[in-house]
Amino acid sequence: MAYTYDDTNIFARILRGEIPNKTVLETDHTLAFHDIAPSAPVHVLVIPKGPYVSFDHFASAASDAEIVDFHRTAASVCTKMGVSLDTGQGFRAITNAGENGVQEVPHYHLHILGGRPMGRMVAK
Ligand code: 5GP
Repeated sequence: MAYTYDDTNIFARILRGEIPNKTVLETDHTLAFHDIAPSAPVHVLVIPKGPYVSFDHFASAASDAEIVDFHRTAASVCTKMGVSLDTGQGFRAITNAGENGVQEVPHYHLHILGGRPMGRMVAK
C-alpha cells in the first residue's frame, strides 16, 4: 500500500500559516513548535516541512538533506528546552504511526517530552 498524504491535516495547515503555532525552531526543512496540549513541562513537536505521513514514510522517502536537518533540529530543540543530556536531565522522543500506533495527526512528527520523569514507556 502506498503512503497517502492528506494535506488538510492540521500540521499542513500550520506549515501553510493558516493556523498559528508557538515556534521553538525553524529551518528550511523543519519546524519545531510547542504541543497545544502538553503532556509534560516540555512537549515540543518536530515536523518536516515536506509531505510525509509517518516516520517510516519520512525515513524511506525524504532526501538526505531533509533527514539530516530534521535530526539536527530535534537535537537543537533538546538543547534549547534544557533537556539534552549535554546540559539537562533527559527526555523521551516518541513518534506514533497509523492506526495501531494511535497517530492523531497524519503528518510525521517527533514528540520531545521532558521536564519530569516520563514513567513507563508504554502501558501493558
Ligand atoms: P499524535 O497522536 O498524532 O502522535 O500527536 C498529535 C499531537 O498534536 C497531540 O499531542 C496534540 O496535542 C497535538 N496537536 C493537535 N492539534 C494541534 C494544533 O493545532 N497545534 C499544536 N501545536 N499541537 C496540536
